[in-house]
Amino acid sequence: MMRDFTLDIYRELLETLQRQGYALIGYADYLKGEWRKADGKNFVILRHDVDAKPQNSLKTAQIEKSLKAKATYYFRIGKESNEPEVIRAIAALGHEIGYHYEDMSLCDGDADKAWSHFRTWLAYFRKYYAVETICMHGAPTSKWDGKDLWKKYDYKSLGIIGEPYLDTDFSDIFYLTDTGRCWDGYKVSVRDKIPGYQDEWTKKGQTWHTTGELIEAIEKDQVPAHVMMTTHPQRWTNNRCAWYKEWILQNMKNIIKRILLWKTKN
Ligand SMILES: [Zn+2]
Repeated sequence: MMRDFTLDIYRELLETLQRQGYALIGYADYLKGEWRKADGKNFVILRHDVDAKPQNSLKTAQIEKSLKAKATYYFRIGKESNEPEVIRAIAALGHEIGYHYEDMSLCDGDADKAWSHFRTWLAYFRKYYAVETICMHGAPTSKWDGKDLWKKYDYKSLGIIGEPYLDTDFSDIFYLTDTGRCWDGYKVSVRDKIPGYQDEWTKKGQTWHTTGELIEAIEKDQVPAHVMMTTHPQRWTNNRCAWYKEWILQNMKNIIKRILLWKTKN
């Protein structure tokens, strides 16, 4: 079996994008329109959700730095993600740091409590980096949708300029995610999906399963010019033992997600 989701193939993916003329940028760069200055060329927003194993994120951050690419890393508050040394190191490499929030789940759906909790933790992450963007952590097992907090409160009042699920123009930006440890896992994802557009993309055949297939599509110019690519660095490793563990775990998770999705539909 040819191993996918290794750091080697991640590097190859980025190198292929650069060869095809894509600028690799962070989410705040996109919002501020900095990519346009690069004579309106193709770009990919590199978004990383640091759900777990922060050390793996340091590795992808180093690869990106070596390619002069910029990315955005969203950290959660829990120990599984929130590793101050890693946050500092990734910021020092020139990447953007953001808050991967899940305050509604942590506060049992109480919006007032969640808003206070959100502000406390935003201030915490701002000790390491002048955080400008935030991104929902969409745990499939939580009954709360983190974005519901914004029905009552406004993150822009705190100097936050954007949230990928809410401030990205998906009529212009094509979305790719490694959710489910493949590139077409949105089919089984409960929350990491783009309603309305994803069906259209699928109809056009813009769907790939393995990273190898995705790389081939990039080389053949089958991937749109403006893209947001979400990856979870905990999945990407060159270490064989960790790789097999992640592979088995994710296959199990995908089965559970299919059941959850079936339950919400029925
Ligand atoms: Zn997440």
